[in-house]
Amino acid sequence: MARYIEPICRLCRRNNEKLFLKGARCYTPKCAMDKRPKPPGQVPGRGGRRRRFSDRGLQLREKQKARYTYGMLERQFKRVFELAEKQAGITGENLLVLLERRLDNVVYRLGFADSRSQARQLVQHGHILLNGKKVDIPSTFVKEGDTIGWREGSKKSEYYKILAESIEAKDILNWLSLDKVTMVGQVMALPTPDQVDAKFDGKAVIEYYSR
Ligand code: SF4
Repeated sequence: MARYIEPICRLCRRNNEKLFLKGARCYTPKCAMDKRPKPPGQVPGRGGRRRRFSDRGLQLREKQKARYTYGMLERQFKRVFELAEKQAGITGENLLVLLERRLDNVVYRLGFADSRSQARQLVQHGHILLNGKKVDIPSTFVKEGDTIGWREGSKKSEYYKILAESIEAKDILNWLSLDKVTMVGQVMALPTPDQVDAKFDGKAVIEYYSR
């Protein structure tokens, strides 16, 4: 399966903005945006002109931010956009809700992982159950009422044990619920756009694909 192989922090530096793609590390002084806030390729100490973006460039940047945030390749992202376009309502809002409904995102939102990329690995490695059945496709869309839990075998891992001890302190978004004893989460309702802390401009993403 194709995947993104560049250093993750480069994506933030290229966008000149923290995208919080690496979980806890993003909140520490080790964050590359704090250490080297200039875009890749720009030599520190030599100044350099700030890049000006055309309208098209700005739209591309917003689309890339959305794509990087959810860790998706262009083809996958465009497919979700086309699905959002076909749904009734506002495409930008539909897109946001569809992205949030991805299984890897829900695993992340439930606090089972520190970042979406870690959540994607948990799903791909078969640790996660959706409605009691192993699902190893991160792009699976969850729906209202779905439950998300752990495979019995995975509960013996050191990762799970540490997680179970620390989960109490984690806040869960109100469209989800989590039983912190059994570690089973549930989608109480699909998220509304205002419940999603979008780090990109949905309107610019629509304009990008509308050309
Ligand atoms: Fe971005 Fe996080 Fe890397 Fe900082 S540590 S550059 S916020 S991914």
